[in-house]
Amino acid sequence: MLKVLTCLTVEHDFRLVVVAAVVCFSACLTAFRLFSRIRGSQGMVRGAWVLLTGLVAGSGVWATHFIAMLAYKPGLPTGYEPLGTLASLMIAVVFIGGGFAVGAARRDTDNQIAGGVLIGLGVAAMHYEGMSAFVTQGQIVWEQAIVGASVLFGVAGSVSALMVAGRARTLSSQLMAGSLFATGVCALHFTGMGAITIIPDPSIVVPAQLLSGGVLTFAVTGITAMIIMGGLGAVVIESQTSRSALERIRRLANAAYEGIVVVEEGRLNDANAAFCDLVGAPLDALVGARLEGELLIFDPAAPRGGERRREAVLRPRDGMSEIPVEVFARVLEDGRRTETSGLTVLAIRDLRERRSAEEKIRYLAEHDGLTGLPNRNSLQARLTAALDRVEASGEGLALLCLDLDNFKEANDLHGHPAGDALLVEAAQRLSSVLPAPSFAARLGGDEFVIVQIGGGDQPAAAAELAAHVLESMRRPFHYEGHELSLSVSIGVSLCPDDGRTAAALLTNADMALYRAKESGRDRYRFFKREMDETIRERRNLARELKAAIQAEELMVYYQPQARASDGEICGFEALVRWNHPVRGMIPPVEFIPIAEESGLIEALGAFVLNQACADAMAWERPLNVAVNLSPLQLNQPGLSAMVHSVLVNSGLSPQRLELEVTESALFKDYQRALDNLRQLKALGVRIAMDDFGTGYSSLSTLQSFPFDKLKIDKSFVESIHRHDRATAIVKAVLSLGRSLDIPVVAEGVETGEQLAFLRGENCAEVQGYAIGRPAPVDTLTNWTNLVAPKPSRRRSTAA
Ligand code: C2E
Ligand code: CA
Ligand code: CA
Repeated sequence: MLKVLTCLTVEHDFRLVVVAAVVCFSACLTAFRLFSRIRGSQGMVRGAWVLLTGLVAGSGVWATHFIAMLAYKPGLPTGYEPLGTLASLMIAVVFIGGGFAVGAARRDTDNQIAGGVLIGLGVAAMHYEGMSAFVTQGQIVWEQAIVGASVLFGVAGSVSALMVAGRARTLSSQLMAGSLFATGVCALHFTGMGAITIIPDPSIVVPAQLLSGGVLTFAVTGITAMIIMGGLGAVVIESQTSRSALERIRRLANAAYEGIVVVEEGRLNDANAAFCDLVGAPLDALVGARLEGELLIFDPAAPRGGERRREAVLRPRDGMSEIPVEVFARVLEDGRRTETSGLTVLAIRDLRERRSAEEKIRYLAEHDGLTGLPNRNSLQARLTAALDRVEASGEGLALLCLDLDNFKEANDLHGHPAGDALLVEAAQRLSSVLPAPSFAARLGGDEFVIVQIGGGDQPAAAAELAAHVLESMRRPFHYEGHELSLSVSIGVSLCPDDGRTAAALLTNADMALYRAKESGRDRYRFFKREMDETIRERRNLARELKAAIQAEELMVYYQPQARASDGEICGFEALVRWNHPVRGMIPPVEFIPIAEESGLIEALGAFVLNQACADAMAWERPLNVAVNLSPLQLNQPGLSAMVHSVLVNSGLSPQRLELEVTESALFKDYQRALDNLRQLKALGVRIAMDDFGTGYSSLSTLQSFPFDKLKIDKSFVESIHRHDRATAIVKAVLSLGRSLDIPVVAEGVETGEQLAFLRGENCAEVQGYAIGRPAPVDTLTNWTNLVAPKPSRRRSTAA
């Protein structure tokens, strides 16, 4: 140690030692500034930084060595072989550059040690290669132990420097690392110099052309300084550009719609404006906040781990309600860091808008667009939930099925907008009589359901509610100045008496509703076990009837109508028959009401009319055909168009067609029915009033519309001569017809006595078993063929 110290103080030019030290420190400090760039870059750029670091550190260390050698004054002539000196420079650049590359390759101690050892050995190799190029007039004697120590110093310096630099990327750690490295280099050099003793030998000649002294010091110092400055300049330019790039990124991040947050060690390090807005706090107030748990609450049930996208709620700072967000995480730097300890960038998307859109879609899917009530889709779920609820609480539950009476007619008469307005108003009235948690739903059309939850003892509570609903619907509805009246029929089923499931309660309430309709509408009925069978029966029949109309299981029979005076056949009444494959012939009195209730009457009526017109067209004689119209048909807006198209299709002359309507059919909607009758009459079709005497038999009806025929109901005809009152009615009707100039037909004429009486009273036509029973079309040829049938044959049929 003493030897090294004497070597340094006695044998060196101290001023040059200081220059060497300055060069060494500035080169080493710059090298570690550059080293930090290697770690932050990749590919070609990384290569360039490695090269620059190697150049700066290598040439700096080499210059340190060379200047220090020039400072060395052993008191003998000295010189340097150019090749060896150049080789030592190469060794320095290559080894030190390589060492830095290894040290920067990975962020662990192994690499830092390996890189440090490589650098230290490179410095030593440079030094001793340089020494081998040193020529002086004497023998150089080496002291191996000191040489070894010098190498250790160099390695220790560079290893510790790399480890310090590896710990943090701050300027202070770079300065610290550079200082350690420089100290190691200096220690190596001067210890190495202390390891030599020169024994003067005058026989050795120092060649004159060798490098030496003076100007060379300045040249080496100058060039090295330039290289170091080049390196420093590169660092400055790079940090400047990366700072402006950073600024651009920040601006970009601030322009982003989504919140962007940089998280370090689980705490907020940086955030963009959108995130600050979302949280409702300035960035300063957020830096350092714990992200998870403080700002974001993740759903613990949500998958973690590999999942890069997670949902969470954001807790705003301003005490506003929590915001649902979607979080995308990206871990920066190398993949071995975990999300909680490393640098992570999170994109945070406000889900409120999407949630509200989802909410809206769900609302639309579950509610009826017109009335805003829950729709059929959501009724099932709501009802099931309500059943679970009452099962737990022991409360009662009633299900009310509602159907607006005569809604279809109102809709047809006033148009769809009026129908819609009625439904909306009806829904409002329903909701207004329902205390929560009871609710109403619309199943479609004019069908509604009420689920009554709790509300008191059943069935009293349901009866009270149903009465309430009936009452509320009886108030007139108003639409564009019109006053419309509606009523509602209600069927009620109770849980648990009538069923415990949604399906059972719905079916049973629907059956009760059917009964309510049947018993005259505008009323409610509770479900009763007995309803099950008969209603199911009717339901089945309705279903079968629908199929029967399509399968043409229905047939049209014809009953002759004869002129009373001479018995001449003038036409036939078409009467529908259903030849059921199992039940046999079902009379129309049984299935016509079903067709009317189940909306099949339109199709049935069209079928009969088509068939009757087609059949009549096939008759050789142009006899009339009479077809019955149901009251419901008479209220249909498209009736005359339908009749017109049937006439056109069949080719039947309208004069041959007679339509029979009952008086009661007119009173459902007087104006509408009269409009329809006028349109029909305009087609050239004749209109007969059926069953005259059973209804209102009002004169005003007969006066308000020019009927072409009156048909006295068979109940009067059968009473001729048996009840004086009936006989008087027949006589009165016949005289009424005469005075109004409307021909009268008597129905149900069964006996010759009746026939004689009617003939005597100047009845125009007769129809009944006395003339002929309703029969299939192919049995009518006697009457319909042109060849005049034998009178005897005809008489026998009429008998
Ligand atoms: P309606 O229009 O009064 O038809 C006359 C009914 O009296 C027919 O019964 C017929 O068979 C029956 N009848 C005829 N002569 C006599 C008789 O001398 N004595 C007795 N006791 N009865 C006689 P049906 O065919 O059973 O028809 C019953 C009702 O069904 C008809 O009464 C009519 O209102 C309705 N109807 C029949 N076919 C149709 C149809 O195609 N469309 C519509 N809407 N209703 C129809
Ligand atoms: Ca009739
Ligand atoms: Ca009749």
